[in-house]
Amino acid sequence: MGFREAAEYHLNRAIKFLNLNEDTAMALLEPRKSLEVTFSVRMDDGRVRQFKGYRVQHTDVLGPAKGGIRFHPNVDMDEVKALATLMSIKCCVIGLPYGGGKGGVTVNTKELSESELERVSRGFIRAIAPIISTDKDVPAPDMYTNSKVMAWMVDEYSVIKQVNEFGVITGKPLSIGGSAGRNAATARGGFFVTRAACQKEGIDLKKAKVIVHGFGNVGGHAARIFAEEGSKVIGIADSKTAIYDPNGIDIKAALELKAKTGSLKSYTQGQKLTPQELLECECDILVPASLEAVITEENAAQIKAKMIAELANGPVTPEADEILNQKKVILVPDILANAGGVTVSYFEWVQNRMGYYWTAEEIDEKLEKLMCKAYEDIYNFKQEKNCPDYRLAAFAIATNRLVQAMKDRGWVS
Ligand code: NAD
Repeated sequence: MGFREAAEYHLNRAIKFLNLNEDTAMALLEPRKSLEVTFSVRMDDGRVRQFKGYRVQHTDVLGPAKGGIRFHPNVDMDEVKALATLMSIKCCVIGLPYGGGKGGVTVNTKELSESELERVSRGFIRAIAPIISTDKDVPAPDMYTNSKVMAWMVDEYSVIKQVNEFGVITGKPLSIGGSAGRNAATARGGFFVTRAACQKEGIDLKKAKVIVHGFGNVGGHAARIFAEEGSKVIGIADSKTAIYDPNGIDIKAALELKAKTGSLKSYTQGQKLTPQELLECECDILVPASLEAVITEENAAQIKAKMIAELANGPVTPEADEILNQKKVILVPDILANAGGVTVSYFEWVQNRMGYYWTAEEIDEKLEKLMCKAYEDIYNFKQEKNCPDYRLAAFAIATNRLVQAMKDRGWVS
């Protein structure tokens, strides 16, 4: 099952568990607004190229749509719709006053010069400007977009509107209204919910052996935070190299090496494995933080972790979910575990609207409160409703919140 099918599968499972009627199911499965655009960009060689772009607002029942913009050759309307739907669920898991949104441009950024990238970013925002605003739809970075791209986009939007509207986009540089704590937010949020889950499930985090698969923004910060908080990080991996050391890895040294050389290849301690082999090593907590579908029906039976905290999006396929459930592996699902990023994006938006900015410590404290409350709600729901797993409980809680708002507004009966 691919990523899109998996998203629909999980939502359908919640719809069935909650026994929702057909009209309500349709209101949940079909995005409210989808915009497809074609825009022209002059390239460095003088040629004018046409680009396809998309922006989908899954729902605005709770507030503005919120979700990233990705630049990738595989972007199409179906993918953007599935991702927008998942964003609604993720925002509702945390209780943010947002619906889900997503956008994208079908483009390979590796083929663009810096100035072409800027013109694509500005061109896309001009094309979708009629349907976004601080109160309607608030984009953010996603695959192959970053704070620099967000800065061009917010600048272009402000030129169109003839007023600075920093709250229309999050993930901006600090100089123009970005939030403190955003870079590590996904990893830190993931740590908070994993710690909460360990407390309930009887795992001593201070004695826990942790493996982190993926050593980029999320995985690098996650390995550092788990180590700082007293866990023993015994495995890390980037796309080419995995390091396994039961005595514990020096994460600071590994981060420095990765920053300097771009790889983990020349790390000298421990044992070298393939990234795939590392997933199957014995540990207490496995943190997939690389790509989707790294744990499938092929390797799920070999996983020896007691707990999996999904910091990547969709790292465990639905087929693998079933195998892991039978093995009683505790799985903290992505829509909860990696929601720290969108939560700090929400804080950025709030700060932009207030024109008053919080410190990194204040951000972390607020993040901790929301993440821990979300975990607690999901745990209680799972116990009270006899729900078989955390993923279903998270989808069901979020779906309930969406449906309640839709009912209150008279959108469904
Ligand atoms: P990134 O590009 O910074 O890092 C990805 C890491 O994965 C790199 O270290 C890369 O070497 C490694 N990797 C790639 N292929 C691999 C493989 N086959 N085996 C092992 N490692 C491999 O990306 P990121 O921002 O850290 O995102 C990682 C995951 O987290 C993605 O699934 C992303 O969608 C998800 N996520 C990110 C954020 C965020 O705030 N950045 C928020 C929510 C979810």
